[in-house]
Amino acid sequence: MNPIPYGKQHITDEDIQAVIDVLKSDYLTQGPAINAFENAFAQYVGAKYAVAVSNGTAALHLAALALDVKEGDKVITTPITFAASANCIRYCGAEVVFADIDEETYLLDIEKVKQLLQASPKGTYKGIIPVDFAGMAVDLEAFRKLADEYGLWIIEDACHSPGGFFVDSNGGKQLCGNGKLADLSVFSFHPVKHIATGEGGMITTDNDELYKKLIKLRTHGITRETSLFENTPDFACGMESEVYPGWYMEMQTLGYNYRITDFQAALGSSQLKKADKGLQRRIEIATNYDNAFKDLAGVKSQLNELYAEHSGHAYHLYVIQVENRLGLYNYLREQQVFAQVHYIPTHLMPYYREQGWKEGDFPIAEAYYKRCLSLPMYPSMTDEQQQYVINSIINFLK
Ligand SMILES: *Cc1c(COP(=O)(O)O)cnc(C)c1O
Repeated sequence: MNPIPYGKQHITDEDIQAVIDVLKSDYLTQGPAINAFENAFAQYVGAKYAVAVSNGTAALHLAALALDVKEGDKVITTPITFAASANCIRYCGAEVVFADIDEETYLLDIEKVKQLLQASPKGTYKGIIPVDFAGMAVDLEAFRKLADEYGLWIIEDACHSPGGFFVDSNGGKQLCGNGKLADLSVFSFHPVKHIATGEGGMITTDNDELYKKLIKLRTHGITRETSLFENTPDFACGMESEVYPGWYMEMQTLGYNYRITDFQAALGSSQLKKADKGLQRRIEIATNYDNAFKDLAGVKSQLNELYAEHSGHAYHLYVIQVENRLGLYNYLREQQVFAQVHYIPTHLMPYYREQGWKEGDFPIAEAYYKRCLSLPMYPSMTDEQQQYVINSIINFLK
């Protein structure tokens, strides 16, 4: 049996051709492939705007900058996520405040967030960063209501959930990153995620003002749009003039170079065409796992039963909880099955311990961490491979 990783990209000949086409074209970066990818992605998630960037972490950083996060601000997020969900707040000099997860969904527990907000004067917190962990959509309708009550913004970390959705109280389908409830949503195109561009990220929004800010921030804070210029045409030309010269541009805020390349964007567009098919396969794989573990004592799945009727889970990860996690992890490795752990709680990373967080702060997240294991989950995994993974787990438990 060849090694089975927990996640893996799926690159087709069509993808390769799309990249080659761009490499032979006039633009390697800042060309038309980026806009095309942005438009296709915005349409896929149902948002008005999409801004492509160099990676998901850059997307989070720009989202925080666009919302003016700064020193003195406090922002709430979950400890069960990739560190970047919290780090983007630290990049801006602001303080990260963690809140515990829900025991069944492993998502940021809105009740815990409520408790934090109620315990401090209004205005203490500036925003919330909920994460669609493992691909399960956060109930952004509830979070939006709470955020509005306290005047907070929401950045949805949707890195795990392109194509995922939840059903709102009106029966409406709310796609992750659709711009309707979160102020901004971020995605990653790292190879283990649904859509691979090598490195890459996207921010989606329905907000015109935030969109304009993001476009500038992505490229040094520079604009070339005449209507936005602050200096006069006289200054720009170096002589009396009514119009700006062709070379003129302005750096108006402190931005970054967080651009994506055209060949990555072309790969993204090509991958996006297969996203629905990939998602269907992920759901199939998850259903197989659900069925295999349903009556298996000692294995607990994320929300297990509830999801069958609810769908909308994008299954970036298939997480189980087992008593002897280390034993199972090592046993699976011997069988060439490379399961993984998502995540070591962010608040217990040495960097965040230095900020005062400690063991015992979030008992549910910490108990979850002791037992969680992410099983192989990627569209190109075959039924035989999955059966082998399932059999290995059953053998271990015996
Ligand atoms: C992958 C990921 C990121 C960061 O994305 P990169 O593209 O690797 O920078 C952020 N948040 C979550 C939840 C992720 O899974």
